[in-house]
Amino acid sequence: MPGLSGNVLILLFLVGASIGSFLNVIIYRLPRGKSLVFPPSHCLSCGARLTFIDLIPVFSYLLLRGRCRHCGKHFSARYMLVEAATGLLAVAAVYLFDLTPYAAGVFIVSCALVLIFFIDLDHMIIPNELTVLVAVIGLAFDGYRLAVFGRQEAIILAEQIGGQHYSAYLPRSIVGLVVAGGLFLFIAWLSQAILKKPAMGMGDVKLAAAMGAILGPGYLFASYFILAILIGAGISLLLILLRLRRRRDYIPFGPMMAIAGLIMLLWGGQVAPWILSWYGP
Ligand SMILES: [Zn+2]
Repeated sequence: MPGLSGNVLILLFLVGASIGSFLNVIIYRLPRGKSLVFPPSHCLSCGARLTFIDLIPVFSYLLLRGRCRHCGKHFSARYMLVEAATGLLAVAAVYLFDLTPYAAGVFIVSCALVLIFFIDLDHMIIPNELTVLVAVIGLAFDGYRLAVFGRQEAIILAEQIGGQHYSAYLPRSIVGLVVAGGLFLFIAWLSQAILKKPAMGMGDVKLAAAMGAILGPGYLFASYFILAILIGAGISLLLILLRLRRRRDYIPFGPMMAIAGLIMLLWGGQVAPWILSWYGP
């Protein structure tokens, strides 16, 4: 974005990384049913309250070499990774979509997808709070588009019955939600019927529905679906080749759906035509 100076981007990174620091708290506490705000951040090993010097995103980790200042316990590098990734997502959202309410919405959905990625990886659940948040923002984006650009943004059903012309306008987000949720529900049912064990959880179905609200029922969602499967197949194959997982182990699909969602959210306009070009002239 030509209007954004380097200083603004650095500031955005720091704000994003601070939010990433809070995402680390949510990743740990939300699936355990603990309060997100109380007690304040503390070392999980010795219980020492973390203060300003411990909580500067990314830098504290590097400065203290990933250790608690009080007991010397090593923290996972994942904390820093989440902070850095969230900082970069804030920069990317504003770089791509300028300082707009849309960029803010994209960033909030990105944060939800980061949370879903790690919570599903750790606990094999996708909290409903997060999928509802994604769906609500999808509906809000669509409501905004309809308010600004009018009915041309809606899906038009038109039919000629007995010489009379009927037409109905349906919001893309709601049709996307129903179609995507329905598709994944069908896949869940089919894989259960074939494999005789649950292969896709209801959390995945609900996340698909929420992404349908964001991407609509058309080619963006089709690309998202193909991308999630390709990423899933690629990562699963890699884990099996590296012998980190065996062929019969359960590998959660939510993290793959979260990565595909981030890619479509930020670069859907470029990625979708590329993926769909494999299928046509
Ligand atoms: Zn400690």
